[in-house]
Amino acid sequence: MDIIINSLYSNKDVFLRELISNASDALDKIRFLALSNSKLLGEGDQAKLEIRVRANKEAGTLEIRDTGLGMTREDLIKNLGTIAKSGTNAFLKKAAEAKDTSNLIGQFGVGFYSAYLVADKVTVTSKHNDDKQYVWESGAEQTFTIFEDTDGEQLGRGTRLTLHMKDDGEDYLDEKKLENLIKKYSQFIDFPIYLETTEEVEVEVKDDDAKESETDDETEADPKKETEVESEVESEDEKSGEETDDDDIKVEDGDAKDARDEPKKTTETQKVWTRLNENKPIWTRDPNEITKEEYDAFYETVGKMPGAPLAHTHFKGEGDVEFKSILYIPSKPPLELYSGEQQEEKDAIKLYVRRVLVTDNFENALLPRYLAFIVGIVDSDDIPINVSREMLQESKIMNVIKRKLVRKALEMIKGIMKKDDEEPEAEEESDESSDEKTNEKKAKPYIQFWNKFGKSIKLGVIEDSANRARLAKLLRFRTSKTDNKDPNDWASLDQYMERMKEDQDQIYYHSGADLESVKDSPFLEKLIKKGYEVLYLTQAIDEHMITQLLDYEGTKFMSISKDNFKFGEKDQKEEKEKNKALKKMYKPLTKFLKKKLGDKVSKVRLSNRLSDTVCVLASDQYGYSARMEIIMRAQAF
Ligand code: ADP
Ligand code: MG
Repeated sequence: MDIIINSLYSNKDVFLRELISNASDALDKIRFLALSNSKLLGEGDQAKLEIRVRANKEAGTLEIRDTGLGMTREDLIKNLGTIAKSGTNAFLKKAAEAKDTSNLIGQFGVGFYSAYLVADKVTVTSKHNDDKQYVWESGAEQTFTIFEDTDGEQLGRGTRLTLHMKDDGEDYLDEKKLENLIKKYSQFIDFPIYLETTEEVEVEVKDDDAKESETDDETEADPKKETEVESEVESEDEKSGEETDDDDIKVEDGDAKDARDEPKKTTETQKVWTRLNENKPIWTRDPNEITKEEYDAFYETVGKMPGAPLAHTHFKGEGDVEFKSILYIPSKPPLELYSGEQQEEKDAIKLYVRRVLVTDNFENALLPRYLAFIVGIVDSDDIPINVSREMLQESKIMNVIKRKLVRKALEMIKGIMKKDDEEPEAEEESDESSDEKTNEKKAKPYIQFWNKFGKSIKLGVIEDSANRARLAKLLRFRTSKTDNKDPNDWASLDQYMERMKEDQDQIYYHSGADLESVKDSPFLEKLIKKGYEVLYLTQAIDEHMITQLLDYEGTKFMSISKDNFKFGEKDQKEEKEKNKALKKMYKPLTKFLKKKLGDKVSKVRLSNRLSDTVCVLASDQYGYSARMEIIMRAQAF
């Protein structure tokens, strides 16, 4: 916990976002359950799904109250009392490496602990429909207490967090600060968020004794009463009795007397619940009326990541199934995306049915694995409202939605290319963390995308045969004709095709562990001399992908290290003539070598593709390339 707290220390503000998002999650859960059993919601205040935040300066506490699902005794122990949840280790590992940890906490499900950034003790009072009301309490140490709450205010249903603020956390008891934070982080929370604020109001006084009688009201006031307005008239009056030597209070006393002298009006401070968020869901609004700032802010909410996304798309699915959707490409891949750890079929798309969140980790994801980096929401009126998660998975409606989402996601990616043409020199925020490669700063938008998510597109070529042709257009390569020091000089397959030699009928590629070793390969010598372009494949996934692709718009891919490699027709003819004589001349040598090497090679023959190097080991036409063999062996295929 110390590490979590310390790694987040520079950005304490996040605690409120995390706790409100937990409240919102709990409200989503009860709202979902109530779809099939409305009795679960209960009656009166309990049935109102909302979040209330209240600061108590005198007590030094901050309260966050929700009417969500609540937690049973067991839930409290399991969810709050155990820090060894699976995400925690991964979080600690990443936190040690990362410079900016503010986006880590939500992703790893350690959000609750962020309360200890500002509080030295947290009291959680919770009531779940299936259990009695319990109080869980813990300081930032290794133990917690839990007991049944028989004496406290009964919540009906839901959870109240009371943060006992540290001395340096008291800023967060300031109403203005709280208001700003909630507006900043939580404007797209789907439930009303109220903040208790203090307001000065003029009230009419009926008689001269009004002041006394109101003070009486105050002492009798029922703190449990959830009225919209609670009077709190000059409560300093009580204090002034005890602290007689406080000058400030005497001055206020004088003011109050003046006010009483005025005929029929007086100023009172009242506690008022103020609603801070509007909640017409952004996806139901007209895209033309939504600003970029609003889209970016919504991205922070759904993507749980700070900063602006690389791209977004907001569209309506029409036809057989109607739905609305907003999808984003994040500015960075989620941490676990390429970590090589076993990945479940899981994406970051939230599914809503008639504006009710049904699920945000759909067992059978809405997007295929290769697009799992995309975040966003889908909302449809056409899904039966009381559908079970199991039924959802098999539903035809879902398949229609999935197909459309993939199509739109690919269009969104293609859309980034257009930006490359518009922007002559790509701008980047200058305070981008310094661990990013410097040449990434100059990269154009699509190249930025490619550097971050190219691997996913390659995976898509392998896995999504229906969209293979579309995906092939998104591929980018370093080649023998691109300037490989220039961050923006990458070739698309279309560009390769345009640059092909007149009589060339295949797309040449060569693979190796890195650019250096591919570039220096003897296989390339003659091709480059003759002016052919060769794709450089350096990622493990590349050759797999090319094998799946087979051809690009009818033109086949050809490894230049394969035995059956041939030049373009014209060059081929030329070489053939020359070779005939040479072949004969060197027959004794090739024969001798084959005999000497025996089973280690399948044949030895004269090659026409070398210019400076004496000999190369080429792969059999039907076998793996040398590079592929290394990869296969490493993965024990
Ligand atoms: P995460 O929200 O990613 O699961 P957190 O550390 O933020 O991780 O919260 C841990 C768990 O505690 C939640 O998954 C939830 O089960 C429970 N929890 C936290 N806050 C609330 C709340 N206000 N109401 C109900 N359950 C809650
Ligand atoms: Mg959370």
